[in-house]
Amino acid sequence: VLPVVPGLEAGAFRIVSGGTVELLVNISDIAELRSLDPGACDGIGLLRTEFLLSSASDLANEEKQFQLYCEMLKWADGKPVTIRLLDLGGDKPLGGFGAEERNPFLGLRGIRLLLSMPVMLRIQARALLRAGAFGPLKVLLPMVTFPNEVADTRRIFEEEAASLAKRHIAISMPAIGMMVEVPVAAIMLDTFTDADFFSLGTNDLTQYLTATARDNPSVVDLYRQATPALLRLVSQTVAVAHEMGKPIGICGDLAGDPERLSSLIASGIRQISVAPAQLAAVKTAMAQAGMDG
Ligand code: PEP
Ligand code: MG
Repeated sequence: VLPVVPGLEAGAFRIVSGGTVELLVNISDIAELRSLDPGACDGIGLLRTEFLLSSASDLANEEKQFQLYCEMLKWADGKPVTIRLLDLGGDKPLGGFGAEERNPFLGLRGIRLLLSMPVMLRIQARALLRAGAFGPLKVLLPMVTFPNEVADTRRIFEEEAASLAKRHIAISMPAIGMMVEVPVAAIMLDTFTDADFFSLGTNDLTQYLTATARDNPSVVDLYRQATPALLRLVSQTVAVAHEMGKPIGICGDLAGDPERLSSLIASGIRQISVAPAQLAAVKTAMAQAGMDG
């Protein structure tokens, strides 16, 4: 049973169980931050930039992206901000990307799409490298399947960093981590030596484990039945990450389910990122776990 202490900052709770469990937020829109006190969480665990940059012109606008990322860092006030590269395609055919795919969830989406369109990736990389000079920014790659995708993305960041530095523009190379949301990546986690950290995306992981589309109401029961399998895989994956000495957190919807909190903590998860709407319920579950203790 988990001992819990109220956090020292405004309203934040932390579980202390031979360490702390961090509670961060998933953000899709800058408006969400305006009604959220940064003191209520340990930072931003997932910023979904595909919603933040909603038009094709935003995707090409390095300056606008830089300003937005700086705004996030300013809000977080020294706490970490994990910004995910554009996760276009699949259920998010923004700007028309991925819309023409016959099986969009199985096609060119996330990092696959970015690596196939490096111009867009390089713009985002430059904006992130520049923003990184203003606070603790981390970069998260969506839909990684094989290790070469991490290595190729890192090389692009290094090339852009070198060219910005040559122009005497302030930059900082961020930690580069990956979503674990494709089953083969979870199973082969030990081969991802190039990733600095991991974040479990249980929404996509569930859909790919069960062959049930996450947005299809007629198979939602199958999707839900997968939770025990999912928890088993989460636990195995967390153990491998720990062996590798790399941080691992969870940012899929499972993280925001108060009933799963104890299982996640028991599996070794020490970083949980949830939608702002789930924050209160997860904090209550943390406090209750402590009271039970
Ligand atoms: C996930 O797949 O679990 C995830 C967090 O990413 P998204 O829901 O944006 O696909
Ligand atoms: Mg996902």
